[in-house]
Amino acid sequence: MSTKIIITGSKGRMGQALIACAKNFSTLRVVAQIDRDDDLAAVISQGDVVIDFSFHEATPGVVELCAKNKKAIVIGTTGFSVEEKLAIVNRQSAIPIVLATNYSTGVNTLFWLTRKAAEILGPDFDLEVVEMHHRLKKDAPSGTATTLLEILGDVRKLQLAEALRHGRKGIVGERTRGEIGIHAIRGGDVVGDHTVIFANAGERVELTHKASSRDTFANGALRAAQWLVQQKPGLYDMQDVLGLK
Ligand code: NAD
Repeated sequence: MSTKIIITGSKGRMGQALIACAKNFSTLRVVAQIDRDDDLAAVISQGDVVIDFSFHEATPGVVELCAKNKKAIVIGTTGFSVEEKLAIVNRQSAIPIVLATNYSTGVNTLFWLTRKAAEILGPDFDLEVVEMHHRLKKDAPSGTATTLLEILGDVRKLQLAEALRHGRKGIVGERTRGEIGIHAIRGGDVVGDHTVIFANAGERVELTHKASSRDTFANGALRAAQWLVQQKPGLYDMQDVLGLK
């Protein structure tokens, strides 16, 4: 029996990629496509899992409706405020939720490598993250860059609110040891590039991932949906789906 999928944000770039890629999964069937102005409440009973790649303000309402109807949800949307994220994670006792800033296998490998490199290289290396996305992206820095920064902050035991330097301008003084630079570049049709730089006197390590197709995120999210229908209520990420924990 196939798993029935409802896509929210269906007319967007990711929504369209999900609809196209779902055709290659024999065990999945898209039963409803919901965008702004459509009524999710009217169709939610038809699905097993909702896949949401919409807008940060919309997702908490989608999660609420899923919790009310006991439907699992895979969330790809990024750019949540602290309150929005809290509203989402608070529903983990009611339904299974996968929340991931990036669904590509390559980026989840980058997450793993970033943690390892930060642990091996130690506190003498300066940390900088650079990301580039297409000109239409609405949030910055990207959700993926935010996850990379959280990993670096976790290994170095740094409070990100104090450690982050969003770009630099003017007479900012010498770089302090405790800061992590983050730089968001926007332009053209770039699907998503992320580089983590570890720089010390005399040497530099750079870890880079470049996505050239949205299908990599779509296929990962569809794989997560397939996995999620068999899970208990709880909060999961793509590392859980890939069995990397
Ligand atoms: P997009 O702007 O092309 O599409 C978003 C769609 O959501 C639009 O069609 C819009 O009309 C719709 N929408 C807005 N409010 C809605 C609502 N209330 N209900 C239903 N639909 C609504 O954006 P995109 O490039 O497809 O990206 C969507 C989100 O996914 C962004 O937050 C982006 O950062 C994120 N993203 C995540 C990953 C990942 O792997 N986690 C990958 C790519 C993009």
